[in-house]
Amino acid sequence: MSNNSNNGTSPVQEFEYKAEMKQLLDLIVHSLYTHPEIYLRELISNASDALSKVRFNALTDQEMLDKEVDLAIRITIDPKEMTFVIEDSGVGMTEEELIANLGTVAKSGTLGFMQSLKEQQKQLDGNLIGQFGVGFYSVFMVTEEVTVETRSSHPGSQGFRWRSGGQGTYTIEKIDKAERGTKISFKFKEESKEFAEEYRVEQIVKKYSNFVDFPIYLGEKQL
Ligand code: ADP
Ligand code: MG
Repeated sequence: MSNNSNNGTSPVQEFEYKAEMKQLLDLIVHSLYTHPEIYLRELISNASDALSKVRFNALTDQEMLDKEVDLAIRITIDPKEMTFVIEDSGVGMTEEELIANLGTVAKSGTLGFMQSLKEQQKQLDGNLIGQFGVGFYSVFMVTEEVTVETRSSHPGSQGFRWRSGGQGTYTIEKIDKAERGTKISFKFKEESKEFAEEYRVEQIVKKYSNFVDFPIYLGEKQL
């Protein structure tokens, strides 16, 4: 772990992934390359999980941050810039949770996927891919660097920015974030730029995320 400076404001800390993570990232990117669009299903599924948690906690937790905020998933794309943003008003993550959830394989739904790959010693076909939650890291099929900005729903929480190129290290720094929840943003690789087009996002959401329990917006439009 090393420190470097962020314009003299808060320090940016660099972390190494746990050893097995590198292997995992490699596996995901190389096994799933025929179905890169599932990155969107995975991000929506995580947003939906985070919203379900907040909805559940709200039943008993009077102290929760932004209790009155809408439970929703918001996607913004820019085809010219080839950028993608997905935001949710879910539980968010503390710094410890960021490290535990996005820095280690133990927490990830990708474990089952890896196991199955080992057993089969071959690529999963499309059908099997459909059954597995392959997890957050599938995003590295379509981008070279991901930024996650998040703030936990716990009262007194702070915002954090996690950033990684999926190459063995990630950084975390403290940020100001007004509301609870998670915002994930990145720029598509050249070969994945079709996913910054509105019709593609709509198509993928209809195919994989039809039964999500929370409204999904693409810009102003509810999908
Ligand atoms: P899984 O969803 O199967 O646990 P993922 O790789 O998709 O595996 O995600 C790993 C973990 O990261 C999740 O379990 C969750 O704790 C955390 N996480 C991912 N996305 C979000 C999000 N949008 N809001 C809050 N936590 C998240
Ligand atoms: Mg998931």
